[in-house]
Amino acid sequence: MIGVRYTTTATGEVAKFVTCKKCGHGYGYWMRRVGTGSNTSWFLIGRDSAQGRSGREAEGELAERLRTEHDPVPCPECGHYQKKMIEPAREEKYGWVFVAGIVGGLLAGGGCFLLGSALAVLGGPDKWAHWLSRTVLGLMCPAAVCIPAAAYGLKGLLTHRYDPNAAPEDGRIDLGRERAMSPKEYARLAPKPRRSAGLDSPDDPPPSDDPPPIPFAPAD
Ligand SMILES: [Zn+2]
Repeated sequence: MIGVRYTTTATGEVAKFVTCKKCGHGYGYWMRRVGTGSNTSWFLIGRDSAQGRSGREAEGELAERLRTEHDPVPCPECGHYQKKMIEPAREEKYGWVFVAGIVGGLLAGGGCFLLGSALAVLGGPDKWAHWLSRTVLGLMCPAAVCIPAAAYGLKGLLTHRYDPNAAPEDGRIDLGRERAMSPKEYARLAPKPRRSAGLDSPDDPPPSDDPPPIPFAPAD
């Protein structure tokens, strides 16, 4: 054994608070994320420190994600998606297109391999079967690469054209009420407004006002 690779995941949750840009309503939601880290111990030297670095990396990634990312939670009063939620909403709507492209590419590549191999075996010395087998096998790599690439392009096109705030208002309000924390919980946890406020964007309350994140523990 030359090296052992340690991979650690850390899971955490944080309360996010929002003031709607459109109607001024304040609401909050819980956002959950996972961070991962990995480190290698070579020749079994420094196993503990490799494990420690892997854990710290996972915790660092988790903290960064909790601080900078947002979930698509429209305003429960008016249904408006805030600016920082537009990209996550687009990803939520069309993220599957790229995943489907990767799966499709793997299936098509695997299918070409199996079909081409079967033709090579079953076709025997027949020239036509030999040509077809080589052609099908030749399509294996292009299919495995081009289908995910095309799906990536298609996803980019669809997400670019999609405006989550153009969806029916009732549906957005229902979704906001489903995803947002209860008004009672919001009243208990939300930072109190500061009298000197003026420079801060309602979209982005200062981190110092946020309650501390829910403690998380790295797990192997
Ligand atoms: Zn609103």
